[in-house]
Amino acid sequence: MQGVMMQADVVVMGGAVMGASCAYWLTKMNPGLQVLVVERDPSFAYASTALSVASIRQQFSTAVNVAISRFGIDFIRNFQERLGVDVGIGSLGLKENGYLFLAHSAEGAGLLEDLAAMQRSFGAATEVWTPEQIKARFPWLEVGDLTAGSFGNRDEGWFDNMGLLAGFRAAAKAQGATFVTDEVVGIETASGKVTGVRLAKAGLVACGVAVNAAGTRAGQVARMAGLDLPVEPRKRTVFVIDAPNARHPDAPLLVDTGFYLRPEQGHWITATVPQEDGPCAADDFEPDLHLFEDVIWEQLYARAPGFDAVKVVRHWVGHYAYNTLDQNAILGPHPDLPNLFFMNGFSGHGLQQSPAVGRGLAEHILTGGWQSLDLSDLSIDRVLKGQPFREAAIV
Ligand SMILES: Cc1cc2nc3c(=O)[nH]c(=O)nc-3n(C[C@H](O)[C@H](O)[C@H](O)COP(=O)(O)OP(=O)(O)OC[C@H]3O[C@@H](n4cnc5c(N)ncnc54)[C@H](O)[C@@H]3O)c2cc1C
Repeated sequence: MQGVMMQADVVVMGGAVMGASCAYWLTKMNPGLQVLVVERDPSFAYASTALSVASIRQQFSTAVNVAISRFGIDFIRNFQERLGVDVGIGSLGLKENGYLFLAHSAEGAGLLEDLAAMQRSFGAATEVWTPEQIKARFPWLEVGDLTAGSFGNRDEGWFDNMGLLAGFRAAAKAQGATFVTDEVVGIETASGKVTGVRLAKAGLVACGVAVNAAGTRAGQVARMAGLDLPVEPRKRTVFVIDAPNARHPDAPLLVDTGFYLRPEQGHWITATVPQEDGPCAADDFEPDLHLFEDVIWEQLYARAPGFDAVKVVRHWVGHYAYNTLDQNAILGPHPDLPNLFFMNGFSGHGLQQSPAVGRGLAEHILTGGWQSLDLSDLSIDRVLKGQPFREAAIV
C-alpha cells in the first residue's frame, strides 16, 4: 500500500508511551534504523497512557523498580534536555509533592523501614515518620490508627502524561521513525523467528524485530505469535472530587489501605482497587460509580475529616494492563521467538517506567543484552517458569 513501508528493521506494535519511548531510544541510538510504529487509535482516548494518574515515586519494594524510577525522575525533571530534540515542550510540569505510604501495624512499620533503607541506597530520599511526625507535616490527617508512614520529600509527585507521550513521539519522528495508523492483526513466523507483522490496512510488513507495546491488548498480540502472556485489562474507576473543607495543595499522593488520593488543581483525585477485581473486556469503559460511596468515602473521611462534604465532579475509567503473575513489567525477548520483544504488564506503574524501559529495550534490541540497567529480573523467563517476582508496593 502506498505511503507505508513494506519492510522495517523494527516494527513497534502499539504507539502510546511505551511504543513511542522504544522508537525514540532506538532512533536516538541508531539514527539509520528503520523503525515503524503501528497504532490503531492515535487519539489515545482509551490508552492507559492517557487515562493514567500520571505520578512517579521512588518507593518500590524491588531494587530494579527503584533503579528504573531513579532514571525516570531525572528524565522527567529535565525532559527537554534529556530528550535532546527540541519538540516545543519545555517542561512536564513535575509537581514534587511526594508519596506518603501509611503503615497500620508494627510489622508494616518495620517493612517501611527496610524498604526506605533499600531505596536510600539507590539515592532516593525516603524517610520513615512516626504518626506524630506525619501529623506535624500534614495536620489535616488523622493518625491515631497508624504506626508509621514513609514519605519521599523529593523525586516523587506527578507530571504531564500526554506531554511525555507527545515528546517521545515528536522526537522519534524527528529522528526518522515512521508512525502509522493501522491495526496489527497477525504476526508471521518461520524457523523460530518473527518474519513480519500483518496490518489490517497495509498488509504484511517484513521486519527484523517486532516489539509488543500493545498495553491492555498485549495478550492478544502475543497470541498472534502463538504465545501466552499473562496480561489482561483490569478496570480502574478514578474520581475527581471537590472537598471545600479540605484544601491542601501541598498534599502528597497518599496511599492508604483502601484508596489513594492526591490533589489536582483545587480538586482531588482518588481511586480504589475493587474487592472483586478481575479481567474486563478491552473495550469496556463503563464506570464502577458505586465505589466512591461504598468503598472510598468512609475511609477518606476517617483519615481526613475535612472530606465531610464531598462532590464527585468528574470520573474516568482506565485499564491497567494487569500482569496476573506478579503485577510487574514483562520485558525483553521471548526465548521461543528471540526477535519478538515485550514491554508489557506494567499494571499501575508504567508511565513513570517508560523512559528507562524504552532505553532498556532499545539497548537490548541493538546489542543483544541489557546495558545501562540490568532489567533481567523483569524478563519473561520468570513467567515461563511460573516464578513471580513480586512488587509489594502496588498502587
Ligand atoms: C487509572 C490508571 C492510573 C494509573 N496511574 C499511574 C501512575 O500514577 N503512574 C504510572 O507510572 N503509571 C500509572 N498507570 C499505568 C500507566 O498509565 C501504564 O502502565 C502505561 O501508560 C502503559 O503504557 P503502554 O504504552 O504500555 O500502554 P497503553 O497506553 O495502553 O498503549 C497501548 C497502545 O497500543 C495500541 N494497540 C493495542 N493493540 C494494538 C494493535 N493490535 N495494533 C495497533 N495498536 C495497538 C493501543 O491502541 C494503545 O494506544 C495508571 C494506569 C491507569 C489505568
